[in-house]
Amino acid sequence: MPDRPTIFALSSGRPPAAIAVVRVSGPRAGIALEKLIGRLPEPRKAALARVRDPQSKDIIDEALALWFPAPRSETGEDVAELQLHGGHAVIAGVFEALAAIEGCRPAEAGEFTRRAFENGRLDLTAVEGLADLIAAETQAQRRLAFRQLKGLIGDRAEAWRRRLVEALALVEARIDFSDEADVPEDLLGPALYAAQQLRDEIAGVLADGRRGERLRNGLVVAIAGPPNAGKSTLLNRLARREAAIVSPHAGTTRDVIEVHLDLDGYPVTLLDTAGIRDSAEPVEQEGVRRARERAAAADLVLWVIDPSAGGLPVNEYPENLANTDIWLVRNKIDLADTSSCTHAANLSSSEYKFTLSISALTGVGMEALTAALSAHAKAYFAATESVVITRARHRYALEETMAALDRALARDHVNGEELIAEELRAAATTLGRLTGRVDVEDILDVIFRDFCIGK
Ligand code: GDP
Repeated sequence: MPDRPTIFALSSGRPPAAIAVVRVSGPRAGIALEKLIGRLPEPRKAALARVRDPQSKDIIDEALALWFPAPRSETGEDVAELQLHGGHAVIAGVFEALAAIEGCRPAEAGEFTRRAFENGRLDLTAVEGLADLIAAETQAQRRLAFRQLKGLIGDRAEAWRRRLVEALALVEARIDFSDEADVPEDLLGPALYAAQQLRDEIAGVLADGRRGERLRNGLVVAIAGPPNAGKSTLLNRLARREAAIVSPHAGTTRDVIEVHLDLDGYPVTLLDTAGIRDSAEPVEQEGVRRARERAAAADLVLWVIDPSAGGLPVNEYPENLANTDIWLVRNKIDLADTSSCTHAANLSSSEYKFTLSISALTGVGMEALTAALSAHAKAYFAATESVVITRARHRYALEETMAALDRALARDHVNGEELIAEELRAAATTLGRLTGRVDVEDILDVIFRDFCIGK
């Protein structure tokens, strides 16, 4: 596309910084580089060069220049890269010079990556992997994102799609040549066998306990319990900063506060839920409703009680936590003799996987709690090495594929060739949507929206 705009952007972090990387991509990238440094360096070799304003010939900076002719570049287009000194005025000077070149304009968010996708350098799942790699906060997230960037799900989906197309070809041959004597009767058998195998492989990938999605977002641990039990104090101590407002008045934490932790390389999202209790006040009711909802969706609940205040009123026990692990955290052990507390004995301890005694205020018992959380996260994510799916979008596409395969397999084999072919085609299409091979305009904007400018 020769008349396509050439785009440029700062691809490195916020200035001022030691170095600023400015990237230029598009048909006029070579011309732009020549105008700025007076020549084109040898492809893919760093060259030291004076960067001048093309009009005034003023020296803007001295930089390392790189030239990546199409198609062997990040975007698949001609790409020029300058590694400048990372000052505001340097960058502004280079931008001004670039903007003055005909056909050049600043890039929009994610535009480099979008071009890489459009030129077939990355499939859609790799684009998502790239976004995740940039956003990764922990080492486990980084590993998964990198594997996705390198085709963890994309390559597999493409291989599945190819096998499906082969199966489809068999069915279509059977339809087209059904009247001819020399076409083998049983083309359908091998096609359906292949479909069955694919179906089972996809089912295996789907049965991953959503660990990949969890790893992207963090294992969710909700801190819940009656008001004033010390939930906010505990959250602060775990987060080691003033993330939640600690107040001696009951019911001050009305909304849900979220803190992201890195526990031994694994991401954990802590939620401080508003004091779960019934209230007549509408604002508080809303907080309680949200707290219950978030706690119910959590992977683990730390149910915090203050045994010195009478323990856990039974009617406040969150009934909808049936499928969530719950640990009982007896807080404020620095206060009076809690062993005399009778309420704690009322709890049916079998409901809890684990009981800990701590003082969120003084820090006693916190090490044991953190160690237990780390071990839990580690055990939970241990299986992620085999995980393939990292997003709801992937899961949805694979579920659709499997549903289409199931429909194909359920058809009447004798007279159902046309319908079987139709379902196999539908399955191939949903796999194509997963990697972005077919008809994905509607989801592109959503995916690229998350990128920053210069990427
Ligand atoms: P929340 O309503 O459950 O979030 O409770 P807060 O964290 O706001 O704590 C309520 C009150 O209990 C505050 O005055 C805290 O300082 C106090 N508190 C929290 N943890 C402890 C603890 O371990 N020991 C003592 N003595 N007080 C605590």
